[in-house]
This record gives sequence, structure tokens and C-alpha cells, in this order.
Amino acid sequence: MTKLEGKVAVVTGASKGIGASIAKHLAAEGAAVVVNYASSKQGADRVVDEIISAGGKAISVQANVAKKAEIEHLFTETQQAFGRVDILVNNAGIYEFSPIEDITEAHFHQQFDINVLGLILTSQQAVKHFDSAGGSIINISSIVSTLAPPNASIYSATKAAVDVITKSLAKELGPRRIRVNSINPGMVETEGTHTAGITESEGRQQIEAQTPLGRIGQPQDIAPAVVFLASSDSAWITGETLYISGGLR
Ligand code: NAP
Repeated sequence: MTKLEGKVAVVTGASKGIGASIAKHLAAEGAAVVVNYASSKQGADRVVDEIISAGGKAISVQANVAKKAEIEHLFTETQQAFGRVDILVNNAGIYEFSPIEDITEAHFHQQFDINVLGLILTSQQAVKHFDSAGGSIINISSIVSTLAPPNASIYSATKAAVDVITKSLAKELGPRRIRVNSINPGMVETEGTHTAGITESEGRQQIEAQTPLGRIGQPQDIAPAVVFLASSDSAWITGETLYISGGLR
């Protein structure tokens, strides 16, 4: 028997990158998966096709995590398609880098709206939909929440907020059998980091030089830990932040 048979998972931002790998790993363990995306329908549908071809269950649903009405729709669609919700993976996120002189209100609000408000809105809906068996919320934070690199004050602040929300909600929701944990990856090669030019930068070489395991990560380095935190293997773990960064701190 697979670890997540009969469970239903919502993965935000699963059309590409880390989220796509998480969706496929959860489905491979038997979960029915809702592949959320903001604008990349094609990418999301490709992830759904791969899951179905491998014998799994999945649908794609468009929703901007920063919009309450769209998140309500995401969970209504989930309930209609699969009849329940057990797992929420808050993966959708954006990263923009800027020295202090160039920070704008838009730079601040876009990142906080998606990375922090979005995660709150999705968690709020998940809590409404989990049944008396509880549920598992897994937040994709980042090593930057404590590493605090230069030119990343706003992005790092969003992820520090994610870490403290994880701990606070774990205490608040534990009595309802809802576990809340975060995974804090180091640099991972994704569509997003390629577009931002990060994986081709000198910064990558510096990070690899400082990383005990000597390389940056791949999405499949992150996804198995999400399966662990979603499953009953982690039944007595809540409020934790798990660094997956090749040993870099
Ligand atoms: P990515 O390749 O850029 O993919 C981002 C995903 O988020 C896409 O599916 C995108 O959907 C979705 N998304 C963006 N804005 C959204 C919104 N408003 N509503 C719903 N979905 C939205 O990103 P990634 O590198 O895989 O990163 C994923 C997560 O890991 C982020 O939270 C990021 O902060 C975190 N992280 C990444 C790294 C890294 O080095 N890659 C390291 C640490 C932490 P569309 O394609 O439809 O826009």
C-alpha cells in the first residue's frame, strides 16, 4: 500500500519547478492531486497528464493565491472533484532581488501578497475543508529566512514570515489534529531560477563553494520530504522547519 492512498492534496504553484515535482511525488504515493497554477495552464495540464499516464489522479485549477475569491473556488473545485481535502502544500511563491535604493511599493506588496497573504488565504480555506481527521499543511519557505543574503531583504522577510506563521499555526491548529511544517530549500534549479538568471550567475558558484554537498538542488531533492511531512510517518511532527540545502546554513 502506498503512503497517501485515499488522501487528497492541493499543491499551489504546481505548473512548474518545485511545485510540479511535489505534485508528481504525492500522486506517486497514491494521493489525488490538485495542480494549481496562476497563468501557465499548459504547464499545469502537462503535470496532470504525466500523473494520469503514471496511473494517478489529478486535475488542474487556475487560482491566484493572493485573491480570496479565487482560493475559495480552488477548494470548491477540489471538493467537487475528489470529495475531501487532507494535504495543502503552500508552494506558490515569487522571488525578486533589489538593493535598498531600488525597492518600490510594488516590489514589497507583490512578494508579500503572494508569499505571505496567499499562504494565509489558502491555509484558511484548507482548515475549513479538513475533516475531523485533521490534515497536514506544508509551507515551502527558504533558507533565506535565516541566511538573509544581501539584496534580498523583502524576499527574505516574506520567508521569515512564513517560518513564524508555520510555528504559530502549528500551536493554534494542533488541537484540531492539523500539523503545520515548513521546508526551507537552498538554491534549487527551476524554471523560475533560470528566468531570474540565478542558476547561471556567479552567485551560484559562490553558493556551491560554500555548500558542504557541493551543488545546488533539484526539485526532486525537495519533493520526497514533502511526502514524508504529508504522511503519517511524520504524525508527531509539527511546527518544524526542515532545511534542505546540501548543508548550507
Ligand atoms: P517557479 O519555477 O518560478 O514556479 C513558481 C510557481 O508558482 C509556478 O507554478 C507559478 O504559476 C506559481 N505562482 C506564482 N505566482 C502565483 C500566484 N499568485 N498564484 C498561484 N500560483 C502562483 O518557482 P520555484 O523556483 O519552483 O519556487 C517554488 C517555491 O519554492 C517558491 O515559494 C520559492 O520561494 C521557493 N523556493 C525556491 C527556491 C529556488 O531556488 N528555486 C529556493 C528556496 C525556496 P504560473 O506558472 O502559472 O505563473
